[in-house]
Amino acid sequence: MQIAIDGPSASGKSTVAKALAARLGYIYIDSGAMYRTVGLHAARQGIDLDDEQAVINATAGLTLNIEYVDGAQHIFLNDEDVTAAVRTASAGTGASAVARFAHIRERIVGLSRKMAGGQNVIMDGRDIGTVVFPCADVKIYLDASVQSRANRRVAELIGLGQPADFDDISRQITNRDHQDKNRAASPLKVAEDAVVLDTSHMTKEEVLEVIIEIINERK
Ligand code: C5P
Repeated sequence: MQIAIDGPSASGKSTVAKALAARLGYIYIDSGAMYRTVGLHAARQGIDLDDEQAVINATAGLTLNIEYVDGAQHIFLNDEDVTAAVRTASAGTGASAVARFAHIRERIVGLSRKMAGGQNVIMDGRDIGTVVFPCADVKIYLDASVQSRANRRVAELIGLGQPADFDDISRQITNRDHQDKNRAASPLKVAEDAVVLDTSHMTKEEVLEVIIEIINERK
């Protein structure tokens, strides 16, 4: 089974994908972490993230690896575990910048398919149902209003003891949506055969139940 979960940032994809993977015993691959790692590597080298050729050159020799520690995905940049380092807001912005470039996308798409191999997999991202697994058994597109996504992000940051400003976060989400939906290379869009779920007024459990029902119908 290949299960593709796409949608805009902070729509709850990774929370739902992780919970689904644990329930079904499938592997979970967070494709966004790969774009974040490439962005982090380029940013650390002081590269202008708008300069496509500079980003390609700076990241050409980079080795990306995903390993599972107690069931949780860890991502390695060369030999460094950057799982926590790629979770910052600036790494998200950097990821969205480098994700515009077709050459970078091709590498990550190839790597994502290789990691999935022939296993039962749940992968989340922006292009999983449209590009990475166009023949996925189940395609879900999770959406939610900017307001509810910003509210969830604020709650998450406060839970982590980090500062969170609702207006700043709303602005970041809106900018990222714009960049991801309007780029030329594999923009974020709903796959023709995807089930769209607006989770603005749904709990995580409700979203999970709906998706499990869809998976059981397709099995
Ligand atoms: O999902 P996450 O917020 O970690 O993704 C970070 C950025 O990486 C997204 O805003 C998007 O630009 C890019 N991305 C992508 N394709 C994917 C996953 C992530 O373009 N499959």
